[in-house]
Amino acid sequence: MFLPPFRFVPLLVLIFGLATTPLAAADATRPPNIVLIFCDDLGYADLSCQGATDFATPHLDKMAAQGARLTHFYVPASVCSASRAALMTGCYPDRVGVTGVFFPTLAKDGQPAGPGKAGLHPDELTIAEVLKSRGYATTCIGKWHLGDHPDFLPTRQGFDSYFGIPYSNDMGWWEGKPKDFKADFPPIPLMEGDWIVETNPDQRHLTRRYTERAIQFIRENATSPFFLYLPHTMPHIPLFVSEAFSGKARYGLYGDVIQELDWSVGAILATLSELKLDENTLVIFTSDNGPWLSMGSHGGKADPLRDGKFTRYEGGHRVPCLMRWTGRIPAGKVLDGIVSTIDLLPTAATLAGASLPADRTVDGRDVSAYLTGKAETSPREVFFHSPEVVRRGEWKLFLPGKYQEVAPPPAGNPPGGRVEYPHPRLYHLPTDPGERTSLHAKAEYAGLIEELTQLCRTHQEDLKAASRPAGRVP
Ligand code: MG
Repeated sequence: MFLPPFRFVPLLVLIFGLATTPLAAADATRPPNIVLIFCDDLGYADLSCQGATDFATPHLDKMAAQGARLTHFYVPASVCSASRAALMTGCYPDRVGVTGVFFPTLAKDGQPAGPGKAGLHPDELTIAEVLKSRGYATTCIGKWHLGDHPDFLPTRQGFDSYFGIPYSNDMGWWEGKPKDFKADFPPIPLMEGDWIVETNPDQRHLTRRYTERAIQFIRENATSPFFLYLPHTMPHIPLFVSEAFSGKARYGLYGDVIQELDWSVGAILATLSELKLDENTLVIFTSDNGPWLSMGSHGGKADPLRDGKFTRYEGGHRVPCLMRWTGRIPAGKVLDGIVSTIDLLPTAATLAGASLPADRTVDGRDVSAYLTGKAETSPREVFFHSPEVVRRGEWKLFLPGKYQEVAPPPAGNPPGGRVEYPHPRLYHLPTDPGERTSLHAKAEYAGLIEELTQLCRTHQEDLKAASRPAGRVP
């Protein structure tokens, strides 16, 4: 397997360093709890502290003031399943064979609808399994979306328990759905562990129910290290909000939904404080991909970034991210280094004193020193939005090819849709965060374009040489 020097060295240090010397945890006897709150389709600009003005997120803003706000935090896919596969494994989506979205099996040709046939491979080592190796209690509450067949459920991937809808909330029937929808999906399942306990649950109560479960889990595990993974169903469409939050925000239902999510975060943080766990708990809040812009007022915003979900532009991949760990992450810090969800697994492993597997490639980097202020810069200089799109430092390059565009493109660009670009595109993100003007035609950048092109080519070869398949059942 060939790996270029810039990745090879840190990866080796990471694997062998962790295998031989357990790194310092928050406390020698008790590693920190990790609470990972993962919204669905929440845009870069959808928090007050990131520029939202039509609704308020006071609890999230307070969390940002008490911890760090990461302004260049990336997901390596701009759709649900691929993004979650990366989060769970610390790997690029192509590495683990999950690049799209999993669906349940639809009714067809006399066959009934049922669970899907594919999912994240059960042999993949997830962040939950890494933490479990160090004695963590683990739970997943909410939208899993890495396979709903029993072989692929969270309980097969390191989670002690699971509660939630295992895929997107628009994959089936819901209250108010237009009558012309195709009735070939199975009823939307609400699962407890491996069992369907309700079908087509009233989605107005989901955020509240998930939150209550999360708080119950924290209370039950207050004396042991725990990993709470809370992937919310919202604000993916169809949007639903409980009565208490309905009609409260200026930006209609979407704003109401965000304000209920904000309440949820506040309730979880209050529980941690009450149990005196603030100094022993890393809380992470982020999103699986950018906003679904074609949903209009039912979608979020990513200003000033270009486009959103389904695209390789910054609005699709750069998401809001807050991290709070009282006494460890400096309060009120804005971190503008590149960090990605794939870095969370190695970082969690370091904090927990766990080893990473030596038998496979993990793409993520340990960013714990950067988060806690011990290192000035993020160890991640290079990030691949996809095998064809790379960011290195201030520069972003798209290889020539066809690219999906959802939002109307900036002036001076070809009309959107699925657009063929016969030339590479180069953007300087600090001066052009909206990716408006490609500098590819300027002769002075020819060398840089060549270097970044080579980075993509090497990455593609590496993926080809060392990738693993998704799971599949007959
Ligand atoms: Mg999503």
